[in-house]
Amino acid sequence: MNDSLSFLYCAGCNDTFPAEQPRCPRCGMKGQIPPQTDQPTDVFPGNSGAPPPPHSVSVYPDELLLEGQRMDIYDCDRLLGRGGMGVVYLARNTALHRQCALKLLSPRRLSADVDYIRRFQQEARAAAALVHPHIVTTYAAGTFQDRHYLEMEYVAGHSLQKELDRRGPMEPLRATRIAAGIADGLAAAHRLGIIHRDLKPDNVLLTPSGNPKIGDFGLAKRIHAADTRSQPLAGTPHYMAPEIFEGGPVSKASDMFALGVCYYLMLTGRPPFEADSLTGLMHRILAGQYVPVREIRPEVPLDIAECVSMLLARSADNRPADGTAGSQLLQSVLGSTQDLEMLVRDAFRDVNQAAIRPAADGFEVRLTLPDGRAQSVRVTTSDHRPGQRLLLIYSICCRAEKTFYERALRLNAAVLHGGLSIRDIDGEPCFVMIDTYPRGTVEAEEIRRSVVEVGFQADRIEQELTGRDIH
Ligand code: ADP
Repeated sequence: MNDSLSFLYCAGCNDTFPAEQPRCPRCGMKGQIPPQTDQPTDVFPGNSGAPPPPHSVSVYPDELLLEGQRMDIYDCDRLLGRGGMGVVYLARNTALHRQCALKLLSPRRLSADVDYIRRFQQEARAAAALVHPHIVTTYAAGTFQDRHYLEMEYVAGHSLQKELDRRGPMEPLRATRIAAGIADGLAAAHRLGIIHRDLKPDNVLLTPSGNPKIGDFGLAKRIHAADTRSQPLAGTPHYMAPEIFEGGPVSKASDMFALGVCYYLMLTGRPPFEADSLTGLMHRILAGQYVPVREIRPEVPLDIAECVSMLLARSADNRPADGTAGSQLLQSVLGSTQDLEMLVRDAFRDVNQAAIRPAADGFEVRLTLPDGRAQSVRVTTSDHRPGQRLLLIYSICCRAEKTFYERALRLNAAVLHGGLSIRDIDGEPCFVMIDTYPRGTVEAEEIRRSVVEVGFQADRIEQELTGRDIH
C-alpha cells in the first residue's frame, strides 16, 4: 500500500483534495470526512453537529488495472471516473455489442460493511426499474470473481459540476431547463418510492446536447416508509435539507431542497449556504440564511428567483412535495420566462390589422376592425405566485356607469369567450372584456385568438352602451 496517494474527502461537498491542503479548494470548508467509513456519502452517523475529525482516504493505482482488460463479458477501455462506491470504466458489452459505463464496487467498501452487498443488490434492482430520459439507465448488475459491478448507459458528456467549474453561472433559461429535467427524473424515481438523497451537480451528467441525466441512483439510497428515521445521516452537507440535520424523516421534499441548491448554484455560481465548518454550515441551513439570487444576479427574472426560494423553503411543507410538483413548477416558470414580447409578436406575425407596442405592464395590441373602428387590447401577466401566474388579456369597453349595468349584464350573457368585469383603470371604474390563460403554458395561437375575440367583443359592447369608439 506504499504506492497509494493520500486524499481527503471534504466534509462539505464530498470532493476529494490532497491531504496536505488545509481547505477544500472547491467549497472552502476545513472539515474532512469521519473515520468510520471511506464512503463520502455517509457523512456522520449521528446528529451531534460536531464537525468530524480529519480522515485520510487512499486512492489505489490498482484501480487503473482494468484499462484495456477483459472482465467477464466486458472489454474495459479507460477509467471514466471514481466515486465513493468504486470506479467507473468506459467499457464494451461484448455479448450485446454495446458501449456502456461499468461501475465496479470498491472491495474495501465491501469488506467494511457486511450489509452492503444486500443493499446494493436491492438498490441495483430499483435502479434498473428506472428508465427515464433524465436518469442514467442501469442495464445490469452482476458479480465476476468477487467483483460486484453495475452496467450502465454510457453518457458521453461531463458532469454538471464540471460544466459549472469550467463555465461559471448559466443563463437563467438554461439553468431552468436543466433544473426542470432533473425534477422530471426525480419525479420518475419518486413515483417508485425512491429518494435520491445525494443529488448534487457531481451526480448529474450532461449529454453533449446539454440534457441532464441523474446518475448514482439506487446505491443504498432507497428509503422505505419504515426506516426514514433510523437511517444514518447521509448526503452531502451543502445539499442537505434542514429536516435531515434535525433528525427528521428524509422525504421526497428533501430531494427538492437539494435541487434548489443545484438551481441556485447554476444561477449564481456559488452554493446558497457556505461556512468554514460543518457546524457553521448546519446553522446556516437550519436558519435558512442565504443571499437571495437577485442580489447576486439582478438580471435573473423574478419568477425564477421565487422558484429557487420555494425549492429552498426552510420547512419541507412549503416546498414542492416531490419531483412531479417540482417539475410542474419549473415547467411553468420556464413558460413564464419565455419572453412575452416574443410570444405576442409571434401571435400576430401574419396579421396586418394589428399593431403592437409596449405598455406599462406588458403589451398593447391595436386592432383595426371593420367599419373604420379600432380597439386596443392589453396583454399582461398577473402577480400570482410562480406556477399560478396568469396571462391577462383585456380590453376597455367604457366607463362603468350605473345606468349601463343592466344592459352590460345582458350583453355579457351572450359572450362566449372571456367575460365582462369592472376594473379600476387610472382611478376610474371601467367595463373591461377579460380572458385569462395559465402563463406557463399559453401558446401564441391562443393569444392571437383571444386578443381578436376580446377586442371584437369589447368594441361591440362599447358601441352598444355608448355609441362611440374611444378605446
Ligand atoms: P459513485 O457512485 O461511486 O460515487 P459516480 O456514479 O459518482 O460514482 O461516478 C464517478 C464518476 O464516473 C462520475 O463523476 C463520472 O465522471 C463517471 N461516470 C459515472 N457514471 C457514468 C456514466 N453512466 N457515463 C459516463 N460517465 C460516468
